[in-house]
Amino acid sequence: MRGQQVLVTGGAGLIGSHLCERLLQDGHAVTCLDNFSSGAAENVAPLRTHEAFRLIEHNVQDPLPQTNFDRIYHLACPASPVHYRKDPVATVRTNVLGSIHALDAARASGARVLLASTSEIYGDPQEHPQRESYWGHVNPIGPRSCYDEGKRVAETLFCDYRRQFATDIRIARIFNTYGPRLRLDDGRVVSNFVCAALQGKPIRLFGDGGQTRSFCFVTDLVEGLVRLMEADVKEPVNLGNPTEVTIRGLAARVLALTASKSELVHGPLPEDDPVRRRPDIARAQEQLGWRPTVSLDEGLRATIEDIAGRVSVR
Ligand code: NAD
Ligand code: UDP
Repeated sequence: MRGQQVLVTGGAGLIGSHLCERLLQDGHAVTCLDNFSSGAAENVAPLRTHEAFRLIEHNVQDPLPQTNFDRIYHLACPASPVHYRKDPVATVRTNVLGSIHALDAARASGARVLLASTSEIYGDPQEHPQRESYWGHVNPIGPRSCYDEGKRVAETLFCDYRRQFATDIRIARIFNTYGPRLRLDDGRVVSNFVCAALQGKPIRLFGDGGQTRSFCFVTDLVEGLVRLMEADVKEPVNLGNPTEVTIRGLAARVLALTASKSELVHGPLPEDDPVRRRPDIARAQEQLGWRPTVSLDEGLRATIEDIAGRVSVR
């Protein structure tokens, strides 16, 4: 369907900026709402000449200023551990109050609303790969809890609004996503490794680097979000790339693709850092006909090219 009024909270971030671009291409009118705390207006600067694009500076901890949408993608929340730990109370407020405000805006608009949830709701998982039926293994009082528990409460709120008010909700459980426009100081592993490799600085593996993640390229993820929004699926859906790689293996790919001579060094493993993570995407495949199409090497090449254009190389 073309011509919808769409709100993207957190639209100036990594995923949000690619989503805004995609929705405009699909013929929708897009309002991007962001407080630019971990995102940046430059990420959507090229979209500002588009007549169907609007940018609003706003903090989702406050009620949303406008309520006449058909679709709301609720992404506003810092996603990098470095960012969400900086002010953990604000992270909880963003998750709880932000979700309430997105849901209230959806109710007032009669809009469908999608939550950008996360694989972190599975915590340090004891079930592998992670299926949506798994309830998770989350530390409620650790340094990651502001994000993990915040997102778990956000999922609770979305489901309670559906039960209590018949709000039309979707929940995407997003696994590690990367791509062009990652902040250079984002703190997440892909941008850290690519910046270090391009600058000939040491690549720091936390722990022994044997922990795993499964990295999804941002355009694949955006395709999954759009399909989920338009599908009749009420349960949470995992969206991620099931190709699992150790962090040591990721470093090796980055070194090879940048032809870098950076040395590998080790740093302490952050508390509660999940040991293994890989999505079971059977539900997304069956219900959305979705699976990722961009390989890790292809995605890393595009990300490296983007970061190389922004970072100062020695
Ligand atoms: P990001 O940090 O690049 O984007 C988040 C955006 O939200 C930023 O533009 C930021 O300025 C904005 N924001 C943060 N707090 C806000 C507030 N209080 N009010 C208004 N705007 C606010 O992160 P991302 O990778 O694009 O993640 C987007 C969403 O997807 C987040 O909700 C995140 O939790 C979720 N997610 C991302 C990943 C991933 O690996 N990228 C994985 C799982 C879930
Ligand atoms: N990591 C690392 N070096 C870095 C940044 C991260 O070894 O410079 C590790 C981190 O300990 C984790 C993995 O890479 O095991 C992914 O970290 P990221 O912060 O990107 O995402 P998350 O932990 O939220 O999956």
